[in-house]
Amino acid sequence: MIKKSYSTSNEVGLPTDDDMLLINQHTLKKLEKEDVFTFSVILCDNDIDRDFERFDETALKTLEALFVGKTGILNHSMKSEDQSCRTYQTQVITDKSKKTIDGRDYTYLKAWCYTVKSEKNDSLIKDIESGIKKEVSVSCASNSRTCSICGDSHCNHIPGRKYNGETCYKTITDITDAYEWSFVAVPAQRKAGVTKSFKKEKTMENILKSIKEEKSLTLNEQELNKLSDYMDSLKEKSIDGEKYRNSLIQSAKKNFALTVPTLSEECVDEILKNLSSEALENLCTSLSKQANKVIPPVSQLYTEENNKDNSNSQFKF
Ligand SMILES: [Zn+2]
Repeated sequence: MIKKSYSTSNEVGLPTDDDMLLINQHTLKKLEKEDVFTFSVILCDNDIDRDFERFDETALKTLEALFVGKTGILNHSMKSEDQSCRTYQTQVITDKSKKTIDGRDYTYLKAWCYTVKSEKNDSLIKDIESGIKKEVSVSCASNSRTCSICGDSHCNHIPGRKYNGETCYKTITDITDAYEWSFVAVPAQRKAGVTKSFKKEKTMENILKSIKEEKSLTLNEQELNKLSDYMDSLKEKSIDGEKYRNSLIQSAKKNFALTVPTLSEECVDEILKNLSSEALENLCTSLSKQANKVIPPVSQLYTEENNKDNSNSQFKF
């Protein structure tokens, strides 16, 4: 791989001859300088991020090799029209003037990318130029996350939790693949402004947590199916819940009519409308107790009647 020295500020805009050589390795048709817009992004780094995870330097090196030629997309969408940029060069850079939270030299993976100048890419290019699009998220696979507390990769220590005063974090070491990177709204990594997502199947709990906390999310097919099943089950539950609520409302109305017959139907509707299901339950219980005092329950009458008429009925077969 050709290595060039770049300043860490974003080199936005015009590619050099060297850039064009690299870019044209990824194109079917030879592109000219005026056809492309180039820019750089920081993909990931070795600092502990908001998920209490960090890449180690070896992982960054592996990603450096794997990300060349990979596409940059928007919001991790796999739709082909969103595959708007391509990475043509990457480099792991150590900045000794900066330290990570745990005191290491700050090391990051920088990527140089291009997009073809076109009407379709016009707004993206403007967003990059103006600094609106600057946070990116990488998507990669790893086999191992080493625990900072015990050094194991399969343990019960929870990232972010303190053990004897020491905060647990996981170090991502064994990178097996890199998929793509994406422009996103909220970064997970502190310095680099980068979020990452792993193609390891997420639990439903984690998916929901990601939606709530990260405001961005990548799901694979199985996870999407899981989420879809979960939503179906919620839908079913909400139908059941609605039915239950309606039955409570009917029961409350009936018992209101028995206990407070002077109360108008509109007034009852107004009272019941804004009650939570729990309050409705409570109301139903006390109303039906009250109603039972006014009129003994029908079932009881029947039982007594039955018992009078057929005193031996329980012994009949
Ligand atoms: Zn551990």
